[in-house]
Amino acid sequence: MPRTFSDQWYRISDLRVALRPGVSVRLHEERGEPWYVFHERAHAGFFRVNPATYRFISLLNVDATLDQVWRASLQTQPEETPGQEEVFELIVALYRANLIYVEGGVDESKILDRFQRKKAKPFLTRLSELLFMRIPLWDPDAWLTRHSRHIDRLFSVPFRCLALMVFAWALVEFVLAGPRAWQQASSILQLNNLLLLYVAVFLSHLLHELSHAAMCKYFGGEVRTMGVMLLLLTPLPYVDLSSSWTFRDKYQRAWVDSAGMLSDALLGAIATLVWAYSPPGVVNELAYNLMFSTVVYTVLFNINPLMRFDGYYILSDLVQIPNLHEKARQQFLKLWRERVLKVPVLEDDVTKPSERWGLLGFFLTSNIYRLMVMTGIVLFVADQYFGVGLLVAFALALTSFVQPTLRMLAPLKNPLFLFQHKRFVRRTGIGFALVLATVMVIPMPDSRILDGVVEARHYTPLFTESGGLVVQTHVPNGQWVEAGELLVTLENPELETEIEGVQAQLAMATTQESKALTEGSIDLLPIRERTLSLQAVLTTLSAQREALLVRAPHAGIWVDQESKVRQQAWMARGAELGRVVDDRAQVFLGVIRQEAATALLGLQEEESRVRIEGERDILHTAQRFSLVPHSQSTLPSAALSPLAGGTVAVSTADPSGKQAVEAFFLLRAELSPEPERDLHDPLRHGRAGWIKIRLPARPLASQAWLAATQYFQRRYKL
Ligand SMILES: [Zn+2]
Repeated sequence: MPRTFSDQWYRISDLRVALRPGVSVRLHEERGEPWYVFHERAHAGFFRVNPATYRFISLLNVDATLDQVWRASLQTQPEETPGQEEVFELIVALYRANLIYVEGGVDESKILDRFQRKKAKPFLTRLSELLFMRIPLWDPDAWLTRHSRHIDRLFSVPFRCLALMVFAWALVEFVLAGPRAWQQASSILQLNNLLLLYVAVFLSHLLHELSHAAMCKYFGGEVRTMGVMLLLLTPLPYVDLSSSWTFRDKYQRAWVDSAGMLSDALLGAIATLVWAYSPPGVVNELAYNLMFSTVVYTVLFNINPLMRFDGYYILSDLVQIPNLHEKARQQFLKLWRERVLKVPVLEDDVTKPSERWGLLGFFLTSNIYRLMVMTGIVLFVADQYFGVGLLVAFALALTSFVQPTLRMLAPLKNPLFLFQHKRFVRRTGIGFALVLATVMVIPMPDSRILDGVVEARHYTPLFTESGGLVVQTHVPNGQWVEAGELLVTLENPELETEIEGVQAQLAMATTQESKALTEGSIDLLPIRERTLSLQAVLTTLSAQREALLVRAPHAGIWVDQESKVRQQAWMARGAELGRVVDDRAQVFLGVIRQEAATALLGLQEEESRVRIEGERDILHTAQRFSLVPHSQSTLPSAALSPLAGGTVAVSTADPSGKQAVEAFFLLRAELSPEPERDLHDPLRHGRAGWIKIRLPARPLASQAWLAATQYFQRRYKL
């Protein structure tokens, strides 16, 4: 909303100001709307204004003070005259672009002071500017002029055809060698490749920017500034192309914008050919890095119009909406003010309704996309350097979220607005306070889902005691058995021989004993001892022989997990034959990551919901929780490892696949009995599942804080 009067007006009201003599003005038609572009040759200053502002600028002359000019304009054209605030900003901008001079000179502080005060930005804004800082270094115009003949040749038809052919050839090579290219991609971000990658990125950027400059020159523009910009602390070349604004043909402007990508495409093509035909070595690696940097930069960023890269400027030029982002943002702000804040918007908005929705759509999609890319960048940086990542995150959040929001709320600072919208402000204030209270104070239900595994409450693994040959399996795998039922018969010939030997010795000892008794020998005691020890050995061996008949220790399902027990298979001593699993009652073992353990301290004793892999549609319940009081690192089942679709990271060095990378706690919960469950239902023991446990209710803010700290603890091992 233009403000007619400004309390700062006195600073410039007495100045006598006029356009510099060297300034030329051109009228542009864009989207059927006139624009005026001011251009000052000596300093390559550019400035673009709408007709109303142009009318005001054309009134400037040194015979009248700014105040007189402004008042005269207000009298003749009250509707079109900009407010004092706007005039102030306009004069400052014109002065900075070197387009006006001030009669008798001017105390710069008078004009610029306010501007500079505005510039006193908070530290983080400065930081974010630093992260995207531009340092002008070189005026390439003379150089480009000297080489204009080469430039003409570069954009001539034969060269274009040649480039196209090279590109097509490279495309074929790339498709043929595709798998090799993907393989090499995994090493691109490794530390020892970073320098080479940076060299490649810098080189491709340099050619990219020079290509922009050359195309601009080709169409008769001037390129006055080239330099280095910091893109997240990485110096990369840039070039200032603002002179292409003066091109009347929108396609010429679009060509200048796309020149960089054309250079990328050609460079990428040449790099691909070099890569495909060179032997392994530095040249090959550099070529690969060039391929990678041109393709990724062009495809991910540059061609995409949603970020402020070349694709955006091309779109902006082709739809003839200069400053598309700003326009879109203004449309959004306008809608916000009109519909939400209910402030009358006086601006003469010439945007058609269809365009308005287009702009709004662009505003929303580009902002969502920007947010995604920013999050990606922050995470990428934080993964390497946590502190820097945090700073970048703060800076980005401030400039792209906090500041725009404050700007949206700017009208609230105006006492007049507050007065006129008392009810609205009060209602919104109360609503906001309510939302805040809900988030900060009111406890909300909280729950957590844990990965875990189902175990039968009662199961017994069966081991061979002395080893043996399987001679008979009595029960097929998976069948229900009663206690004492015979499962497997083993045979151990060695054991038999041993028993026979002991029996023979025992018989001999018994004979000796009875002989000694009858003959009254004094050797009785040692003989007696020998008999006893032989009897003990025999008992043990007999027990071992008895154990060759493997019986079920209790009722349950006979599980021979890997079908090891086959006819004539030799089972080594101590090997697991299988297990008898009583699946009628089950427990659920949930894995709690260490950083989450504190959150579970206030765990409530109540029914929880459990889902089991293989029967996800059925909801089970569990109760009677107990936390295994010490942390451990061996998973209860390999079903929890990523290989089996679980989410707990396991050590790759461990063959069992059960050794977790990080220690964890176990939560034990008993699954509620199911009377209708049939003995022949598929076994649940060992299956993965999920348990949802209720945590003590707490405010949403505290829940979010906890989740964030846990995330950081996990990701950055804080
Ligand atoms: Zn570019």
